[in-house]
Amino acid sequence: MEKHVVTSKILEQVKNEEETFWVNPRLSKTEEALNQAPYTFTDIQEVEDRFHRFAPFIQLAFPETKEREGLLESEITAIPTMKKWLSHTYQTDLPGDFYIKRDDLLPVSGTIKSRGAIYEVLKYAETLALEADLLKSTEENYEIFMSEKFQVFFSKYNLTVGTTGNLGISVGAMGRALGFQVTVHMSEEAKAWKKNYLREREVEVVEHTTNFSKAVEEGRAASKADPKSYFIDDEHSEELFLGYTVGGYRMKEQLAQEGIQVDADHPLFVYLPCGIGGSPSGITFGLKHAFGDHVHCFFAEPTKMPSMLLGLETQKFDQVNVNDFGLGSLTIADGLAVPRTSALVAKLMNHNFSGGYTLTDESFNALLTNLYQQENIFLEPAAVAGLAGPFKLLDTETGKAYLKNYELKDKLPNATHIAWGTGGSMVPDKDKHDFIAQGQDSKLKTKTTF
Ligand SMILES: *Cc1c(COP(=O)(O)O)cnc(C)c1O
Repeated sequence: MEKHVVTSKILEQVKNEEETFWVNPRLSKTEEALNQAPYTFTDIQEVEDRFHRFAPFIQLAFPETKEREGLLESEITAIPTMKKWLSHTYQTDLPGDFYIKRDDLLPVSGTIKSRGAIYEVLKYAETLALEADLLKSTEENYEIFMSEKFQVFFSKYNLTVGTTGNLGISVGAMGRALGFQVTVHMSEEAKAWKKNYLREREVEVVEHTTNFSKAVEEGRAASKADPKSYFIDDEHSEELFLGYTVGGYRMKEQLAQEGIQVDADHPLFVYLPCGIGGSPSGITFGLKHAFGDHVHCFFAEPTKMPSMLLGLETQKFDQVNVNDFGLGSLTIADGLAVPRTSALVAKLMNHNFSGGYTLTDESFNALLTNLYQQENIFLEPAAVAGLAGPFKLLDTETGKAYLKNYELKDKLPNATHIAWGTGGSMVPDKDKHDFIAQGQDSKLKTKTTF
């Protein structure tokens, strides 16, 4: 297929806010792609080691993490009833197994942000404590981070972040547990309960009537003006990206424990909701290290905010904004409401993502409500985006061409599909009921023309 034909077609669909499915013409062999990356397996291990060092502290500060000994990890859940409902609705049979990765149940923040954001907070705290000689070495028992001495020390420092909500919850929860002052700059999408949650924890919430990029910009500027403030930068942070990677790499052990095979004859397909791109990219990087060419990662975005799709398709990365295409109105998928992607992760993923797709707000609503009705699982709107993935892959010409190209067609009965459920358990009951009611009459868009 000639690239420019696909390009113009996809950009036309993007402009029209139609649902699309897109295959990345730059996908490389995993070995090549990983060799080009500025990060290595050692980086993933370093993240894993740091999370382990902090586990004794996390257990104390967040008793709900005791079961997993202070590690922030989640299970996978098979969703056979939802699979049946989706197959029926899309009129497409899905061979193989279908699971949700339950990052909605991750402790501390109830979202995938528990990985990246919390990692960055922990690393910063460790660095400060070592520099001040408060922590003598990384060999110490990190329960000491609960001590008054440490808490008083961190109370002199500020953490600032710009967010549509969930990054703020993670930074707020962990930052306050360590004793930091925390300031959260919220974009227009941010839900009221997220602001309340943070204020209850004595986090300073700065409300903006502008989009995510603006809120980040203002947060960055405010933080820069304060020498005791550290800015967690969703647009440029390596630590955020690296924090997410363990979520992908740990799947190797998790799937083995569940008896799920992944190899040349048993492909793994993973569908990841994408906002700025940090979490899907980090997870993909970890998955590629775990499974190489046998894993296929697709990212999902709202038709109103396809920032990663535009960044990759135009190869302008963060130099293109959804507003340039006349898009960018408010979307129900607040966690994905990012008008411009991050250059750091978009460039990194240029050769790693298999492709992506977009969903209308109505599809988000329909997926949310039906997942609840079929499986009794509640995910927040952003988090359901992965559920449509396998059907887009099987049902579109572009998807079919991908399967043919990579000789996957015959292997589909042995395949495992995982929709990454990125958040939801902390949504208050009232909001949950409103979301579920909102999707009652929503129809899943089942015709993606290519
Ligand atoms: C932030 C978020 C995402 C996307 O992560 P990015 O790093 O912004 O791409 C997906 N789902 C939920 C619930 C989120 O909060």
